[in-house]
Parts: sequence; structure tokens; C-alpha cells
Amino acid sequence: MRIDVLGSGSAFSMVRNTSSILVSDQQLQRWLIDCGPTVPRALWQHNFGIDEIEVIYFTHIHPDHCAGLPVLLNRWKSFGRQAPLTIYCQAEHRPILQQLTALATFPVTEICFAIEWLDIPERWTWRNWQLASAATQHEMRNLALRIEVDDHIVFYSGDGRPTSATIALMQDAEIAFQECAVATPLAEDASHGDLQSCMALAAQLDLPALGLYHCYDEALTALADTIAHQSNLFLSFDGLQIDLNNEKSIMEQVQCSGNSNE
Ligand SMILES: [Zn+2]
Repeated sequence: MRIDVLGSGSAFSMVRNTSSILVSDQQLQRWLIDCGPTVPRALWQHNFGIDEIEVIYFTHIHPDHCAGLPVLLNRWKSFGRQAPLTIYCQAEHRPILQQLTALATFPVTEICFAIEWLDIPERWTWRNWQLASAATQHEMRNLALRIEVDDHIVFYSGDGRPTSATIALMQDAEIAFQECAVATPLAEDASHGDLQSCMALAAQLDLPALGLYHCYDEALTALADTIAHQSNLFLSFDGLQIDLNNEKSIMEQVQCSGNSNE
């Protein structure tokens, strides 16, 4: 399994793309997780072909997680994508996302490839992938995702604080990405993660690698400084690539990429 971090920034970041990852398995089956406004350009810079992403999963539909969808679909339309696309989202979010797909082709109402819309279940199978979702604590219902494929497990929180349900999904993950807005403690009922809760998580679960992301720009330096000597915590960053089949550990791969502290 390979993970490409397309974006790691918060909603209005001046220095990072909006948060999104691309997950590829050994057979190069690819899922895009979230698609904020600056994600399409990041994808084009990575030079992925127009047919290469088979599934898009939306954790929730705050604009910084979905506003790139019409741009991405518009490009796929313009370059004649043929491959069918599956979009997973929450049932109540589908009509809004379908307005974005309408925008991608307007005034034409058709697109040149099939789009299958599916609600996000709690547990399901997609081909050889085992998946599970659970709600974080966020102002809009947000479904974190656990992916298990090729004997690897990855967790991606989307927005929001960890809950007992999302912590359960992190069990045994080789790498977990957890939203972490700030380095200072937030209230228990806050809508975003903070460093204290993330450090507690990393210790409680004994995770090999916990990547913090979606951090406010002004918190990046304090976050990097505070976790600099933690053996299993890192600041995720745009362009980070992690290969779970690599003999190097995830933390070594992060360090080799050399951009984790800013
Ligand atoms: Zn959000």
C-alpha cells in the first residue's frame, strides 16, 4: 500500500494544500480521500492519469474537503475519462455533491463516464479492501475511515476530535492521520483536535506512526517543536509519500522526506 499526501493544510491555509490523501494498493487500485479546492492541482502535479482514481471518499462536505470535485470532474470530462467512478459519501451529503457534479459539466448534463454513488456504511468490503467508518466529534458529521488491504492498515480521521468509535478504528493501524488544529488544549466539546489529545492517543494505542494534519498555519511551528522528539508522532506535509512495503519504517520515510519540521 502507498499513501500520497496531496494536502495537509487547514481550510484557509496560505502555505499548504487543503487536506487530502491518495491511497493505492499493490494492484494500483486508488482511492482519493477528500477533494478540497487545491487538491486537483496537486493531483495534476503528481501526473496521475485520468482513469487512475477509481473511488473518491468524502469524510464530510465542508468546502475545504469537497470544493475541488467539480474541477477534477471537469478535467476528467475534458480529457475523455472512460473509467467508471465510485463516490462514497454520507446520504445527506449526496445532493450537495451532486450539485458540484452538475457544475462540472454545465450546461451539459451528461458526463462521459459512469458515476456510482454509494452511502458510507459502518463496515464493508470493496474488492479486496476491508473498510470501516466512524464519526469523529465535529460540527458537521464527519466519518473517519479505516482501510485494510494487502496486510496493511491505515486510518484517516477527516475533521474532528477522536471519539471512542474512531479510536477503535485506529487499533493496529500502521499509520493513522489525525486532524490536529492547534498545539494548545481545546475544550472537550471542541470541533477540532489538539496536540494533547493526539499525544495521548499515540501513547494509548502505541501506534507506530501518527501523522498530525489540517493544522492551522500559525500552529505549525509550535506543533513541530513540541513533537520533534516523539518517536511515533509527525507533522504530515504536502508531497509526503509513504510506502508500507518499504523496508524503512514509516517514521524513517517521513524523516528522509525531510520536510516535517517547519
Ligand atoms: Zn470540517
